[in-house]
Amino acid sequence: SAVAVPTALAAPAAPATAPAACDAPLPVLGDEVRVPLAGGGEALYAALDYAASAPALRRVWDEVAAYAPYYGSVHRGAGHLSQLSTELFESSRATVAGFLGCREDDQVVFTRSTTDSLNLLAAVLPPRTRVFVFETEHHAALLPWERRADTEVVYLDAPRSPGEAVGRLEAALATRAAGAPALVCVTGASNVTGEVWPVRQLAAAAHRHGARIVLDAAQLAPHRPVDLAAWDVDWVAFSGHKLYAPFGTGVLAGRADWLRSAEPYLAGGGASRSVARRAGGGVSVEWHTTAARHEAGSPNVIGAYAVAAACKALTEAGFEALVAREARLLARLRGGLAAIEGVRVLSLFGEDSDRVGVLSLTVEGWDSSALARALSAEYGIGVRDGLFCAHPLVRTLLDAPGDEPADCEAPPAPPADTADTVDTDTAADPA
Ligand code: PLP
Repeated sequence: SAVAVPTALAAPAAPATAPAACDAPLPVLGDEVRVPLAGGGEALYAALDYAASAPALRRVWDEVAAYAPYYGSVHRGAGHLSQLSTELFESSRATVAGFLGCREDDQVVFTRSTTDSLNLLAAVLPPRTRVFVFETEHHAALLPWERRADTEVVYLDAPRSPGEAVGRLEAALATRAAGAPALVCVTGASNVTGEVWPVRQLAAAAHRHGARIVLDAAQLAPHRPVDLAAWDVDWVAFSGHKLYAPFGTGVLAGRADWLRSAEPYLAGGGASRSVARRAGGGVSVEWHTTAARHEAGSPNVIGAYAVAAACKALTEAGFEALVAREARLLARLRGGLAAIEGVRVLSLFGEDSDRVGVLSLTVEGWDSSALARALSAEYGIGVRDGLFCAHPLVRTLLDAPGDEPADCEAPPAPPADTADTVDTDTAADPA
């Protein structure tokens, strides 16, 4: 039954107008931040590191602020605010399902991030699933599968074109025993090169061989529409903090069967429908079969509401217009970079590949972290440096194979007394 919605929520604050210097169709928090420059004076901060984390849209922030005074516990009370929060939490789920083009019986599970979503999927794989993954994946998509002792992971070499990616996957899938469960994990757009992967063709190849496919849309979803049903993709994962919502919320959406038949990701209240003492000792538990099965504990209702608000904002702005604007900006950036001697833009699929508005570059003679620091100090431009949590891919792109970090990411030496407690990988490459 419907719950009366406070006026502040029924009519969220109008989107704030963009500052004069910014022609962005969707203004974000912090787009007026000015930073001091090393040479004196200050500059409007240019955040070119949205691929790591994008600031929240002002509109998302306003909508969350309008809801914040009214939030209450979800699924755990008859009080008015609890009912309101439950309704908003579930309607946020429905909004996200629409944004992703989910099928009628797909489930949308709220998680903490893409990393969390893919670890959840790894946890619910049927026994002895074989997982096929390109070595070019972000670590969030590369690493969760081996943690299951009964899972065999097949790593595929970096393809040099979208067609080669499909051919390589087909060849690998053809070698597996028919009938055994199999999963393909692939990115929609690379966080390193911005290149778009042939998701529909990879999904078709997976299904031709009886495998399922999960799409890492952490980079794709903020830039392009995602359509699970039309692309025939089984699951998709993305992060709110890359989609202009605040940190802390992610999504895993897709086929209900594997989610429903596996043990809950976390055990606890909210995931359990009924718990009783067993006559012989211990307890027997009946778990939910809905998305709640994997959402034990009090859910992050504000996070879910913010992600849904971001989905709505992007949909209303229209991906066609966003893609066109982004293509103009990217062309301008690439044109400018092409005129600078020693700059090399990294690419797996070649010059003319389809890209979202993400790129990485090297500058001859420059260490990447020194360059990133100089851009920040001298020009107020924020970029990421290092190996971008995709070490095998970046090594391939730099022609620097091997187990040692490439020179471009030599982390600063930790002080002697903390040397054994510092995780140099995380310290050097946090996102
Ligand atoms: N996949 C891709 C392609 C990414 O770019 C990222 C983050 O950079 C992730 C997965 C992991 O996202 P999160 O850190 O939000 O879990």
